[in-house]
Amino acid sequence: MARNIEPQCRQCRREGMKLYLKGDRCYTEKCGITRRPVAPGQHGVSRRKASEYGMQLREKQKVRRLYGMLEKQFRKYFDMAENMKGITGENLLQLLERRLDNVVYRLGFATSRKQARQLVNHGHITVNGKKVNIPSYSTNVGDVIAVREKSASGMDHFKGLKDGSGRTIVQWLEVDYEKLEGRVIALPSREDIDIEIQEHLIVELYSK
Ligand code: SF4
Repeated sequence: MARNIEPQCRQCRREGMKLYLKGDRCYTEKCGITRRPVAPGQHGVSRRKASEYGMQLREKQKVRRLYGMLEKQFRKYFDMAENMKGITGENLLQLLERRLDNVVYRLGFATSRKQARQLVNHGHITVNGKKVNIPSYSTNVGDVIAVREKSASGMDHFKGLKDGSGRTIVQWLEVDYEKLEGRVIALPSREDIDIEIQEHLIVELYSK
C-alpha cells in the first residue's frame, strides 16, 4: 500500500505550522518547527509571497498531511463532501473528523493520528463491540469505540491511559478512561474543529 514517506517534521516546516504528527515529541523543545521554524530546502528562509493558487495548494496539503492522507484518498473525500447536502468545505472536515483513526486520537487513546491508525490496523480497537481494523471507517452518532479487552489488559500503552486526568476531549465525543471506551454523541460541527483551516481554499482549488 502506498504511503507518505516524507519526514514528519519536514511536513510541518513546509506548512509553517505544527501538525502534531509525532505525538508527545510535538509538545517538547525537540519539536522540529520550534528548533527550525523555516521551510525546508535552500530557499526556505526567503519565502516569497504565495500566489492565489499557491495558497490554495498549501491549505489542501496542510489538511491532507494533518490527517495523514495521500492525494488520491483525500480527493475521494472531497468528492464525497461535494455530493453531500450543505457546505462542501465543512462536509469535508466533518468526514475527516469522523474517521475511526481520528476518533481514536481525539479520544486520547493515541498520541498522534499515525499511532491511532496503527492501533486500528493492528486490531486493538472495537466499534460497538466488534473489532474494526479499517482506519477510514466512518463513525456515527451512538457508536461506542473501545480498546479490545485483551489489548487493554496486555499492553503498557493502554494501561497508562487509565488515569485520564488532564485530558481535554472534543465536545462531540465522551470518554470513560476507566473502561477505555468512548462514544460519539454528535457529529462534529465546524466550531468543534479547533484547527486553523481555511477550507474554502481547498474547495476553490478542486473547483478549478
Ligand atoms: Fe511537527 Fe511534531 Fe515534528 Fe513538531 S515534532 S515539527 S509538531 S511532527
